[in-house]
Amino acid sequence: MSTPLLPVPLPHKRDVRLAVLLLLVICVSLASLTAWKIWAARQRALNEVQVHSLNLTQALDTYAEGIIRQSSMMLLGLSERLEVDGGGPQQLARLAGLVEEQNELLTQLHGLTIYGPTGEWLMSTNGPIPDGANSADREFFIHHRDNPSREVFIGPPIRSRSTQDWVITVSRRFEQPGGQFAGVIAVTLGVENFLRLFGKIDVGKDGAIALTYTSGRILVRYPFREQDMGRDFSRSPIYTRYLVENSVGTASFASSLDGVERLYAFRKNEHLPLVTTVAIGKREALDAWRMEAWLTVGLVLALQGVIAVIGRLLIRDMRHRAEMDAQLLVAREELLATNRQLAVLATHDTLTGLANRRRFDEVLASEVRRAQREAQPLALLLIDIDHFKRFNDAYGHIGGDECLKAVSALLRECVRRPTDVVARYGGEELAMVLPNTEVAGAVVVAETVLARLAELNIVHAGSPFGRVSVSIGVAGMAGQGETPLTLVAAADQALYAAKAAGRNRCVVFEGGGAAHRGSSPLPQG
Ligand code: GH3
Ligand code: MG
Ligand code: MG
Repeated sequence: MSTPLLPVPLPHKRDVRLAVLLLLVICVSLASLTAWKIWAARQRALNEVQVHSLNLTQALDTYAEGIIRQSSMMLLGLSERLEVDGGGPQQLARLAGLVEEQNELLTQLHGLTIYGPTGEWLMSTNGPIPDGANSADREFFIHHRDNPSREVFIGPPIRSRSTQDWVITVSRRFEQPGGQFAGVIAVTLGVENFLRLFGKIDVGKDGAIALTYTSGRILVRYPFREQDMGRDFSRSPIYTRYLVENSVGTASFASSLDGVERLYAFRKNEHLPLVTTVAIGKREALDAWRMEAWLTVGLVLALQGVIAVIGRLLIRDMRHRAEMDAQLLVAREELLATNRQLAVLATHDTLTGLANRRRFDEVLASEVRRAQREAQPLALLLIDIDHFKRFNDAYGHIGGDECLKAVSALLRECVRRPTDVVARYGGEELAMVLPNTEVAGAVVVAETVLARLAELNIVHAGSPFGRVSVSIGVAGMAGQGETPLTLVAAADQALYAAKAAGRNRCVVFEGGGAAHRGSSPLPQG
């Protein structure tokens, strides 16, 4: 009889694998999401810097254009006067006065100088003309002398011969009435003025602001470095690549001068051959972003650490539980096996392997009830080994046991139906419960037993038959009044009759007494 056990969960090795996978997925997603976020923030930071820089170039470009335009206007007016009134001392003095008045309007103006056809100074607002002052070697002078264009020329930065300051010249040619070259009138703009404005703009430690020609030659650069003045940057990618394709744009590359990578925003003026460039050190521009990125990375790593620790605990717990489950499963199997064994032990006889007396009683009781309920026949055979005491005496108890086993095995072979039960009633008395079997059928089984046993021919010197034989009492259900007890008593009575009639036979119980049926003593083996 097995006790029903509670269902035991199976060991969850797969669960552990799933948990590991889940943790991995969480950690990898968190890492990828963070990486993506950091990358996007970096792009945004760079973008913002470039937009700001571009806006700055717009403002500075407008500023530079304004100054040059104002200078041009002034030059136009003065050169008109020179051409109409001529360049006599009186006219020059009047011009000097005129310039003095306009000084207020153009604060960036450093000075104004008028040169004669051979480069000699005719007039200068920067004080008395130095002896023999001549600018025939200056680039702007050569340009106007050799070029009939009356357009304004923006010259490269030079050191003023009167003040030693760095200046940019904006100049124009004036002519004699016949159209011959009469000289040059030039306005000088102090580089200092530009630097003062550029210096107010924060471009960081590595940043720079520059005003250049479209050719790449520097007019002004902040921070100011003496060696940069007039320097040619035409080989910089800005001029060789970016400005070729666009007049406004951004770029990012490492400077060939100091190796620092910068973000450049450049803008070519729409009317003048000038380019404004704002450069910001890339490392510097990304400082805030870097700080935030490190903070995020630290936080995410800490979070992943916590997840890993919790996950480890969880997995360890799951493994532990799985082990416990496995142990429990083994214990359960063992218990079930023991239960099965116990059930067999409880219902079977250990020597013969037949159903034991207890089982016999149970089966008989239930079969009697069933036979009555269903009005079906039921037969009972009581089988007793003849002269078994003598067998024991002759061959010993062990020999007797072997004989008992052999007879039991034979009985088992004589029944076919799964509902038939062969049992050890007690001692050397055996029994057969044959449901749905008429007495006639039971007699056939009994006679089969007798015949087979004769064939088996187990030598029994103490028996008159010279071999082991049995006597069988057969009884069938006799209506509703029958009980297991009366049935057994009837079979027993028939068995007694068989013994009395000389053994080695089968007798059927019939009503008031047992009647000998069938087998007369079988011939001796
Ligand atoms: P009868 O023909 O009248 O049945 O004679 P018998 O000797 O078989 O009958 P009796 O009841 O006098 O003796 C039965 C003997 O069966 C007694 C006992 O020693 C023996 N016996 C009972 N159970 C076992 C067993 O399990 N093993 C062995 N070896 N002998 C057993
Ligand atoms: Mg007996
Ligand atoms: Mg006997």
